[in-house]
Amino acid sequence: MILHRVLPIAKRLISERVQPGETVVDATAGNGNDTLFLAELVGDTGHVIAFDIQPQALKTTHSHLGNLADRASLILDSHANVRNYVHGEIGGAMFNLGYLPYSDDQSIITTPDSTIAALDALLGLLKKSGIITITVYDGHEGGSEERDALLAYVHSLHQGDVHAIRYELLNQRRNPPFLIGLEKMKDFTEVRKVECE
Ligand code: SAH
Repeated sequence: MILHRVLPIAKRLISERVQPGETVVDATAGNGNDTLFLAELVGDTGHVIAFDIQPQALKTTHSHLGNLADRASLILDSHANVRNYVHGEIGGAMFNLGYLPYSDDQSIITTPDSTIAALDALLGLLKKSGIITITVYDGHEGGSEERDALLAYVHSLHQGDVHAIRYELLNQRRNPPFLIGLEKMKDFTEVRKVECE
């Protein structure tokens, strides 16, 4: 199979660019699957900074990391505040939007304002040629608003600065996620926007 589902493609894009020893960000730790993947990728000289606003998510992430726990800093704060925690360049970042799977409270979801604020800051911190992946779920309440705001933001990015792709399985049933992949094409610290028509 070459036309994989969204998550393996997200991991493949990230693996293409992240180097051992780099600092990377998991913007939505959730149950820690991407945090573990990133911790393995950066090796014992690299570091993962993982955000979640739910203590339960960070607890699960911590146990998921097992003996790689010292490669990650688990931050109980919104990813919108990423610049308070990440000061140097990052090699890549991953988002997995929506609610925490298996949680009792599935009303806690990622929201357009904080997702876009985090993305905007992370694009500034990202190394040239680095990748950010965003797995977008739009089947839950509030999901379509977040999707639309995010797509409008991505469409507004200057194509000389950032290349943006969308990948999805068209015949997958029951609200499948789609993937947005962003590649930073040149050095900048502040995102430049094109005027929306
Ligand atoms: N929907 C995905 C998993 C998403 S997990 C799936 O089905 O696999 C999304 C995580 O983002 C949740 O654990 C949630 O608590 C977290 N989250 C929500 N808002 C956040 C914010 N502002 N900053 C950091 N994490 C946030």
